[in-house]
Amino acid sequence: MNFIDTHAHIYFHQYEKDIDSVINNSLENLVNKILMPNINSSSINKLYKISDLYKNICYPMIGLHPCYVDEGYENELKKIKNHLNKKKVIAIGEIGIDLYREKKFFEQQLDAFETQCYWALENKLPVVIHTRNSLKETINIISKPHFKDLNGIFHCFDSSYEDAMKLIDLGFLIGIGGILTFKNSNLRETISKIGIEKLVLETDSPYLSPEPYRGKRNEPANILYIAEMLQKITSIPLAKISQITTKNANELFDL
Ligand SMILES: [Zn+2]
Repeated sequence: MNFIDTHAHIYFHQYEKDIDSVINNSLENLVNKILMPNINSSSINKLYKISDLYKNICYPMIGLHPCYVDEGYENELKKIKNHLNKKKVIAIGEIGIDLYREKKFFEQQLDAFETQCYWALENKLPVVIHTRNSLKETINIISKPHFKDLNGIFHCFDSSYEDAMKLIDLGFLIGIGGILTFKNSNLRETISKIGIEKLVLETDSPYLSPEPYRGKRNEPANILYIAEMLQKITSIPLAKISQITTKNANELFDL
């Protein structure tokens, strides 16, 4: 039995001192693949370094995170796109729209998101999508006819059954993380209705540690707590959860 953490920023400074033990801990806890979404042009080299150090465990994505889209975004996109031909990446990510803190660059976020969705189509890669207070706006874009062949993950999903079904109908998978273990989360009800066939697991390390580690630095090994909560909610055995979510990730990212 194995698991894949489909979303972990373990190239961040929070892991600088103990990355070896973070990887070992992950492997000991049955998480044998860790997929790393990028943030901006300055995080790429750190991310590549980790994927070179831990080949066949850590896999790189490339993209511009919506929270890093500002007046200079076109230049950022140019720099990031330059890397696309240099190294094999498994996805364009993480990309999307975030209207939680800052709405000032909404138009720029829309343009950056669409541009990167085109990169995904051109390079036959999936997308890993980040949305915050922006699910409707994001669905509007990926529903456009020219994106009908786009596929990927809605990472850190935390919305309603109806929203989940919309995304699934558009051909996307649902990324489930630590929020599922939080006591006041409505996500449990949503997941009990949609089942596990279209799910992948993720930690979003270093953020969103599951219970009982909420508030602490997260790491890929904690995937097990999320999988166990899924088992509790759905009564589906852990081995089956492992099998389905691993297959979903392996197929989507061609691992
Ligand atoms: Zn992320």
